[in-house]
Amino acid sequence: MRQIIIIGSGPAGYTAAIYAARANLRPLLIASSVEAGGELMNTTEVENFPGFPEAILGPDLMMKMQAQAERFGTEVVLDDVVSVDLTGDIKKVVLGSGAKHEALAVIFATGSAYRKLGLEDEERLSGHGVSWCATCDGFFFRERVIAVVGGGDSAMEEANFLTRFADKVYVIHRKDTLRASKIMQDRAFANDKIEFVWNSEVVGINGDETVKSVTLRDTVTGEQNELALQGLFIAIGNDPRVHLVHGQLDLTPEGTIAVAGRSSKTKVAGVFAAGDVIDPHYRQAVTAAASGTVAALDAEQYLASLPEDLLAQADTSDLELTPTA
Ligand code: NDP
Repeated sequence: MRQIIIIGSGPAGYTAAIYAARANLRPLLIASSVEAGGELMNTTEVENFPGFPEAILGPDLMMKMQAQAERFGTEVVLDDVVSVDLTGDIKKVVLGSGAKHEALAVIFATGSAYRKLGLEDEERLSGHGVSWCATCDGFFFRERVIAVVGGGDSAMEEANFLTRFADKVYVIHRKDTLRASKIMQDRAFANDKIEFVWNSEVVGINGDETVKSVTLRDTVTGEQNELALQGLFIAIGNDPRVHLVHGQLDLTPEGTIAVAGRSSKTKVAGVFAAGDVIDPHYRQAVTAAASGTVAALDAEQYLASLPEDLLAQADTSDLELTPTA
């Protein structure tokens, strides 16, 4: 049995791991089998993470976080958690491989998943013109006409990035003003390859084998029209990944895991949550990292309060650590 298991490998998970490992809690971090590193793996330059004045690529930042967590003794497993049992003092975590792990404390840092439009043909044409990740799929749209759906920072970032490949990038937004930050808006407005399609929602994605066009509905007049294009990037936000804890933890009206005040404490003793999965508002890499710190400190305090006989069941053998400089 472990002292602590951390589920998730974004900034919240890795930061929790760095703190827990430095507290000699020997964390096991379950990083996901396909999406290890979280959302920043799908991003290009991160310009607002302190300490990197020249910006850093999202995947590079995550690799550094992982290396930092491992340096102090975190064990990282590339697998998915398929179920958890949070009742009792000893929490149980089952992985896709069938492996079963136990721990006295669990931190959920499961982040959020791309939101979908909910259209019939969205799944069918996923990978055939429909994508949620410009950095993953942009390359396939050289000299094509494509569109990004959404009016937030993600949509602006994706649209700007995609102009490296595509001849033209429409930004389809359901309102006539953007939610994105001023700097991201200005960049998109200044980009000659980007054209905004205001007050429009995508109500149909058309094409037999690959995307050929989208059907748009004017949100003011209700009129419909077709826009020819070969790719559709959906960047309309994310929903917290809470499927593992349904029925075990309380959720907020926004769908995030409910925690007490500014802490990471869920309603179940020994179970903590951090990062985007508890944060419907700020959702930044740096706030997620800070939230991971809070969770590790809360977990550390919780473990210190447990009776000796329970703690003695957890594996606390000494680690061989990379010596510090
Ligand atoms: P946001 O929630 O900020 O924006 C989502 C956008 O999608 C909104 O414009 C929203 O429209 C639109 N939308 C939502 N649902 C639908 C739908 N069903 N159909 C059509 N449009 C829809 O999400 P983001 O992913 O853009 O950003 C999330 C967070 O991450 C933010 O805090 C953002 O600042 C941050 N971020 C920061 C970046 C950076 O600083 N470099 C880069 C990327 C993200 P409406 O406006 O009408 O609600």
